[in-house]
Amino acid sequence: MQQFIMHVDMDAFFASVEQLDNPELRGKPVAVGGESSRSVISAASYEIRKYGVHSAMPVGQALKLCPHAIIIPGRRDRYKELSKIIMGILSDYSPVVEQASIDEAYLDITGTEKLFGPPQKLGATIKKRIKKETGLTASVGIAPVKFLAKIASDLQKPDGLSFIHPDEVEGFMAELPIEKIPGVGKKSVPLFHSLAVYKAADLLRYSREFWKNKIGERGPVLYNKALGIDPSRVTPESAIKSSSAENTFGEDISSIAELKKWLLIQSERVAGELRKNEVKGRTVTVKIKYPDFRQITRSRSLETPTSHAMTIYETGCAILDVLGNTGPVRLIGIGVSNFGKKQVHLSLFEEKDEGRLDKLDQAVDRVREKFGKSMLTRAGLLDRGK
Ligand SMILES: [Mg+2]
Repeated sequence: MQQFIMHVDMDAFFASVEQLDNPELRGKPVAVGGESSRSVISAASYEIRKYGVHSAMPVGQALKLCPHAIIIPGRRDRYKELSKIIMGILSDYSPVVEQASIDEAYLDITGTEKLFGPPQKLGATIKKRIKKETGLTASVGIAPVKFLAKIASDLQKPDGLSFIHPDEVEGFMAELPIEKIPGVGKKSVPLFHSLAVYKAADLLRYSREFWKNKIGERGPVLYNKALGIDPSRVTPESAIKSSSAENTFGEDISSIAELKKWLLIQSERVAGELRKNEVKGRTVTVKIKYPDFRQITRSRSLETPTSHAMTIYETGCAILDVLGNTGPVRLIGIGVSNFGKKQVHLSLFEEKDEGRLDKLDQAVDRVREKFGKSMLTRAGLLDRGK
């Protein structure tokens, strides 16, 4: 089966989030960076890039290039929150997702065609969902191998969608500047140029052995890349320590029933992640943020570790019930942690119950695999007015 890898990269992520949350910043030369002029820019909006400002540039230099630049401090928690939403969306379309950084990820989408259509269509679907659920744009690159997917996502930024068909790889390598291949550092560019190697395909004028002698083990690897060969796999992170989901509301929510509906959606997501990682947790934590940004967390530990959505959800509801009427809420989230070993003292009933829930959740997973997560919401989301 033809392998396809997708690379999803958010556009000017931190800066875009600031412009999203603060409409006054839209269309303006915004950059996220530290307050000291010696600190560096961590994200540059597209507006400020026109002045030559880019990330990793000292703030002082950025202000010289663009004196009316708006440099704002970052809000790590907000970026993380959105990152989690984005990664959650991606996990709906492939079981093999590798988060490469806070705002980019690889997906192995090999064989998903029957479910989601051809690769480009899936790329468009994912972009649309990210835009709809976060308000942000992403650029997507799809190619037969990992390093080309990453290069592809950069081709039409921002809001881009690039697809390199296997038949196009050869032509693509003939045009690709050598320094665009990952592993070719700025320092080694003169060496390649001295050998009249300007494009990736130029590497092929010499043998694998030549490159091995010239630059060591890296040589044959680059040679293979010039052929469009890259054995790198998409490797999902394995050892997770906790799993959580949260949502910030456009308008504060006061209704407990409505908050519980959010807990149910989040519990589904958390349970799905736990099962994907084949872990169960004993501690359920609910997090609430109020309009004045005051934040509380309340936890409850279970007798038995769980990865069941309903168990997580009901524990979350119990926590909420104890808190009582909390007034308007800006954010609610639920998480599961404490992935210790299974408790020894299981009652027969609990075991039985867990077994039944296992089956239910496995069925949910199967339907999800088949249709994508959005197709399936438990009936409870619709009618559970708890
Ligand atoms: Mg990015």
